[in-house]
Amino acid sequence: MTRQTIVVVGGGHAGIHAVKAIQKRLKKVPFRLVLLDPQPAHVRKVLLFKAAVGESELTVPWSDILPLGTEFIRGAIHSVNPSMKCLEYRDQYGTSHLLDYDVLVLAIGSVVRNIDGDGFALSNIENARQIHGVIEGNIQRATTVLESHEKRRLLTLAVVGGGISGIETAFELNQFMRTMAKTVGVDPEEVQVQLVHSRQNLLPDGTEKLRQKLLEKMNRNQIVLRNDKIALKQEGGMLLLSNGEKIPIGTSVWTVGLQPNPVVQSLGLPFESDGRLKTDPSYRIIDSEGIYSIGDCANIVDPSNGKTDGMTCKEAISQANRLGKIIALDLIGYPAPKHQSIRKTFCFSLGTGDALVSAKVFGVEMIIENKIAWIIRKITWNLASFVN
Ligand SMILES: Cc1cc2nc3c(=O)[nH]c(=O)nc-3n(C[C@H](O)[C@H](O)[C@H](O)COP(=O)(O)OP(=O)(O)OC[C@H]3O[C@@H](n4cnc5c(N)ncnc54)[C@H](O)[C@@H]3O)c2cc1C
Repeated sequence: MTRQTIVVVGGGHAGIHAVKAIQKRLKKVPFRLVLLDPQPAHVRKVLLFKAAVGESELTVPWSDILPLGTEFIRGAIHSVNPSMKCLEYRDQYGTSHLLDYDVLVLAIGSVVRNIDGDGFALSNIENARQIHGVIEGNIQRATTVLESHEKRRLLTLAVVGGGISGIETAFELNQFMRTMAKTVGVDPEEVQVQLVHSRQNLLPDGTEKLRQKLLEKMNRNQIVLRNDKIALKQEGGMLLLSNGEKIPIGTSVWTVGLQPNPVVQSLGLPFESDGRLKTDPSYRIIDSEGIYSIGDCANIVDPSNGKTDGMTCKEAISQANRLGKIIALDLIGYPAPKHQSIRKTFCFSLGTGDALVSAKVFGVEMIIENKIAWIIRKITWNLASFVN
């Protein structure tokens, strides 16, 4: 067989695991492997909230991640020509280039939903650093303000969106704000982090036992849960809720969900009404020979139960590992495996040093917390980005 050019587009969690899996599985076929991404390094997206508390190491150099022999091209895809087996991308200077492929993997991920008003969406490292600056500024100002209402407002933060990302962000910022308050001579008890959640329950897919554990930890850390509340926007130092309520806040951080990368819709490939690429059960794009898609930009359905994968890192990594096998078998004309959804587990941090992990073992739910759970959480973050 002639040497195959395999191009993986997008070096997020799905893309880097796809590159590793392809390298590992392709034994019988000579190939050239290329990763295309506009970023100068891999971004550890699941840790964005760490940049909001001042941690700086959120990227990993491509050379530390990519297997030996993988080429990296810095650029952003903007169209595909499936009949010519060629894609077009722009480099960082805006110049267009063509790149031929035999196999193309699209893993261009998702973007954070836009928000109205003065708050911050936790969407990228720059935004996270801005959040850090604003919170620091508010706590500093609180040391000089005499008026008690204004002081309370400056020391109040709203995290909007009670998914895993919102929960992790609320705990981390709560810990950071209380520590910083103490450092500058403000009573940490005056800090208040509020988690504003549109639904009745946190962790709607979790068990009652897990929810209770989480609520206990929130109480212990003095994080205020405002459930069943829809936040509209931050305006003039107030968080406006749909029921007319106005909460005085210093700032707000929004973690209100992801949407597929809008570039999907300009590639000229079939996509679903939610903006995700249409795939078959082996991640092949419908009617597009040699093109596959995984991760947040792909609509992936388990053929055995009709369940659609969510936009999560753990699902993206499981798809990437299977994709290596699928491509290896497709190239030699053997039947390839089909997608299988992963088992539901929960693993999330509750500030530095604590976390909750829940999984079913022989049908019984096992919950791990405190230090051991925190170590497990750190391992999952590291595995997601190949960090030792
Ligand atoms: C703040 C936050 C916290 C999260 N926490 C968790 C968590 O705790 N657990 C969990 O399971 N999931 C979490 N997620 C979701 C998780 O990050 C995503 O599901 C996961 O990153 C999906 O991986 P991906 O590779 O498909 O997409 P992405 O990680 O979005 O990667 C896409 C890649 O494509 C590149 N790209 C973009 N456009 C182009 C283009 N035009 N051409 C070429 N390359 C392009 C990007 O630079 C990026 O490298 C979180 C998400 C956020 C935003």
